[in-house]
Amino acid sequence: MHELGIVQSILEIIEEQLKIHEGERVVKVQLEFGAMTAVMPEAIEFAFQALTREGPVAGATLDIIILPIKGVCLDCGHQVELDSYTPFCPACVDGMLNIFQGKDEMRIVSIEIE
Ligand SMILES: [Zn+2]
Repeated sequence: MHELGIVQSILEIIEEQLKIHEGERVVKVQLEFGAMTAVMPEAIEFAFQALTREGPVAGATLDIIILPIKGVCLDCGHQVELDSYTPFCPACVDGMLNIFQGKDEMRIVSIEIE
């Protein structure tokens, strides 16, 4: 389950931030993933709950945003939002899409510390 590894590295960053800001506990964490990372929000949530039963992050709210796949056709300029990845433009069929969102994004949007 690669979500467990993702959550572990996220928690390392959170702990660093806690130290830097001399916070006592984390109230809320907001994460963002591109749809093509195939990250399962339920698995992230599960791993997060399992790894934060104790300590300064226990009980923090987890907010997970999945960015939809968006691309622009290099041929006709059509902008599309895709449910699943395809390299071809649905409008002109053989145009190649330049995917500019929803690809491999994986980031912490915000950490609320008290
Ligand atoms: Zn096109």
